[in-house]
Amino acid sequence: AAGTPIVTLSGLGKSYGGVQAVKEVDLTIAGGEVLGLIGPNGAGKTTLVNMISGLIAPSSGTAEVLGTRPGRMPVHRVAAAGVSRTFQHSKLFPRLSALENVMVGGHLVTRPTFLRRLVWLPSARRDESRAWRHASACLARVGLGEKAGVTASALSYGDQRRLEIARALASDPSLLILDEPAAGMNRVEADQLSDLIGSLSRDGLTILLIEHNVGMVMRTCHRIVVLNFGQVIAAGTPEEIRTNPAVVEAYLGSS
Ligand code: ATP
Repeated sequence: AAGTPIVTLSGLGKSYGGVQAVKEVDLTIAGGEVLGLIGPNGAGKTTLVNMISGLIAPSSGTAEVLGTRPGRMPVHRVAAAGVSRTFQHSKLFPRLSALENVMVGGHLVTRPTFLRRLVWLPSARRDESRAWRHASACLARVGLGEKAGVTASALSYGDQRRLEIARALASDPSLLILDEPAAGMNRVEADQLSDLIGSLSRDGLTILLIEHNVGMVMRTCHRIVVLNFGQVIAAGTPEEIRTNPAVVEAYLGSS
């Protein structure tokens, strides 16, 4: 429900040998919120998000996400609880069509045996057509409905990034984590992405947005958290962040 915390991080930390990538992070994300996570390179954003999505286990503290404790369970179980994400570097299958990319993505999350089903087991047909319709709907949701049959590598850069979002939507997540989705986009594409995120949010999705495009983060997010050297140095509305002296010094001043 809107407002109820769906992510609660308490004293969360991660160290690699002598490097404390994330230190003592306390943070909640409310249902329906679009939360931006910004900070300089190496600030710990990816490490934090990897703990939320269950890719890595924390060294200290706890993460509770949609009633699960990621880090203590396999990634597919975290995904089944309703967490979905995109990655900083594209993980599309370049030679598959846009539609196939979404179908494979959806199946990888909910049904790891997808590849076995390519041999057309007798019972697979009905499931396959349902998956096809669902994948088509996900493509339409991000504005790629007309490009279902286009090979991923032939899509424009902005369309490829939106295809990754369509694939992340295939598992019907409650929490969508976007890792630098606007990287490499031009202004028009970034604005379209911002509009898409707003509309997904109005549909009830909770969104965690990691982004270096500060203008885009400010336009898109309800609230922004700033990491620096693994620690939260500020959290607030876009306006509060824009004018926060510590943030300006650590990050905004130089970007
Ligand atoms: P960027 O904006 O460049 O993606 P980031 O804010 O996502 O940076 P992280 O990638 O989380 O930052 O890195 C935080 C710190 O942890 C860095 O000092 C990095 O070198 C270190 N680090 C991250 N992953 C590992 C790892 N697997 N082994 C050792 N050190 C790591």
